[in-house]
Amino acid sequence: MARVVRSVVRRFSARFAAAAAAFAREGGHAVVWETEGKARLVVRAPKRGDFTDLGAWSMYDLGLERWTVRKTGPFAGLATVKVPDDALHIVRRRAERDSIHPEATREVDFDCLACGACCRDNEVVLDEDDVAKLRAGGRADLLKKPWSKRKNGRIVLTLKDNGRCHHLRRDNKCRIYELRPAACSVFPVASECCVSAREYELEIFDGLAPEGEWPWPD
Ligand code: SF4
Ligand code: SF4
Repeated sequence: MARVVRSVVRRFSARFAAAAAAFAREGGHAVVWETEGKARLVVRAPKRGDFTDLGAWSMYDLGLERWTVRKTGPFAGLATVKVPDDALHIVRRRAERDSIHPEATREVDFDCLACGACCRDNEVVLDEDDVAKLRAGGRADLLKKPWSKRKNGRIVLTLKDNGRCHHLRRDNKCRIYELRPAACSVFPVASECCVSAREYELEIFDGLAPEGEWPWPD
């Protein structure tokens, strides 16, 4: 069981940019709606290369790897990024989930061994260091079928028919823990990727449960 602090997500109208900025400076994630179909995510500026930063992961979870640190205006010193049209429903859901949480951050107790959600339906890409580590560890076999496959020129771990990673044991421990890919070892507990994996895979909602059909159809 890990006690960790996670960022709370709140929606703001663009008229309340100052309040949104204050919320982000306290560690929350502000979703600022400029129109009903256009939103901007505002978070503390992540440090480059810091793979524990929850603000950065809130953007990675939307498929974004770049953001702008504002120099002027109400968001000066904060990172902002336009939410892609096909991810607006995701930030709406985050804000719906957190609408019952009053503060900008909250402490949570997440137990990875009772969870394992991020080891399901997840595409784990192996980088060069992962490949070298597996070879040096005598497990070059894991770079081939049925454990891995090539996709768009990259090696990715394959999943079982039930969506679980081949290396996820029944007790939710990783069978190749010492050799696991970097993407697995840096995955931060309580990031938006973690919280959404728990919702999708296990229907554990750290806040309001979604209204309507869940999980969303692909
Ligand atoms: S989804 Fe989060 S709590 Fe669950 S195993 Fe992964 S990091 Fe741990
Ligand atoms: S390699 Fe291990 S940590 Fe990574 S997804 Fe598979 S079971 Fe999870």
